[in-house]
Amino acid sequence: MMTPAQNFSHSDYQGRIGLIMPYAKNFCASCNRLRVSAKGKLHLCLFTENGVDLRDLLQDASQRDELITRLHGQLEQKKETHFLHQGITGVTKHLASIGG
Ligand code: SF4
Repeated sequence: MMTPAQNFSHSDYQGRIGLIMPYAKNFCASCNRLRVSAKGKLHLCLFTENGVDLRDLLQDASQRDELITRLHGQLEQKKETHFLHQGITGVTKHLASIGG
């Protein structure tokens, strides 16, 4: 399974520990992550300030093309990396709320 965690183990001990290190160089280089919160907001990054509302286009199947158009428009705005180094951590209080 593909995971953002880097796993460590030691031959003298059982188990392993996985660390997710978003400050590591090139952490975001292969990012293909998009998340939709339970409130219907699209998050282009775990640490974005605002989600983009999708709920109005999740009401019935006839909205599919419009939803795809909105998603494509948002994808063009996805940044190459987070801005944690600048102290911007986003509005997400708990990463679990957007499937972190
Ligand atoms: S861009 Fe955001 S979501 Fe993607 S790997 Fe970086 S921190 Fe995670």
